[in-house]
Amino acid sequence: MADIATTGTAAAAQTNEPLIRVEGLRKSFGSLEVLKGIDLSVNPGEVVTIIGASGSGKSTFLRCLNLLETPDAGHIWFHGQDLTAERCNINKLREDIGMVFQGFNLFNNMDVLDNCTLAPVTLKKMSKAEAEKVAMEHLTSVGLEKFAHAAVGRLSGGQKQRVAIARALCMNPQIMLFDEPTSALDPEIVGEVLEVMRKLAADGMTMVVVTHEMAFARTVSDRVVFMDKGVVLEDAAPAELFGNPKHQRTREFLSRYL
Ligand code: ADP
Ligand code: MG
Repeated sequence: MADIATTGTAAAAQTNEPLIRVEGLRKSFGSLEVLKGIDLSVNPGEVVTIIGASGSGKSTFLRCLNLLETPDAGHIWFHGQDLTAERCNINKLREDIGMVFQGFNLFNNMDVLDNCTLAPVTLKKMSKAEAEKVAMEHLTSVGLEKFAHAAVGRLSGGQKQRVAIARALCMNPQIMLFDEPTSALDPEIVGEVLEVMRKLAADGMTMVVVTHEMAFARTVSDRVVFMDKGVVLEDAAPAELFGNPKHQRTREFLSRYL
């Protein structure tokens, strides 16, 4: 099996292959069918925003992308490798796909720096010194270098989420998945997290972002995907999706944000 990390984005760019290609993805929980055949591609360097009502399957979809949920049917190719194949190396995959959750998922009993170095040291076998050097670079990029030795519990929500982003970046991922990263934050600190994400997008990171921040979706994404009841109802450039939505359901959803 080709090593995902060494084949990398360059290989995907050369072949014009999407970084991620999803076909016919289905997922049920008991009798509840949550994903009803999702098709979606994400190209290297693209920022794709997913919007849709609560319960439409956005989180389940994102979690399927790094196999936090096991798809029932369909395929997910990452660099042309089928993640739904039995021989897929899940741990290797998770090193390449960074994920940021609504609830931060930080280790509150560790300081900021240790949160950032834990996975590189334990999973990537990086030396502690090297991991700390990398972590300090990412903490600087999210504006938190002065908080490296702070206890996570003492940080604000916005600072915690910026640590979570820095921590994910420490694994040098090829794509970052964000699941409503600002939904748990007080309105006045949402902006500082969006700003970090905006910078990451400008630096060329491939990103899939589930969000209700329509201004971010409109101004930062290359494509906006509207999910409704387990299907992709629309997938278009932001100007098209916001300016000329095709479906009544999309119009109804967007009207809540006017
Ligand atoms: P969204 O992120 O768009 O709000 P989710 O993907 O979280 O939607 O959830 C879609 C549906 O699947 C909801 O009805 C939710 O209750 C259900 N669901 C999600 N995860 C589970 C689970 N682990 N077990 C059972 N039901 C689930
Ligand atoms: Mg969700």
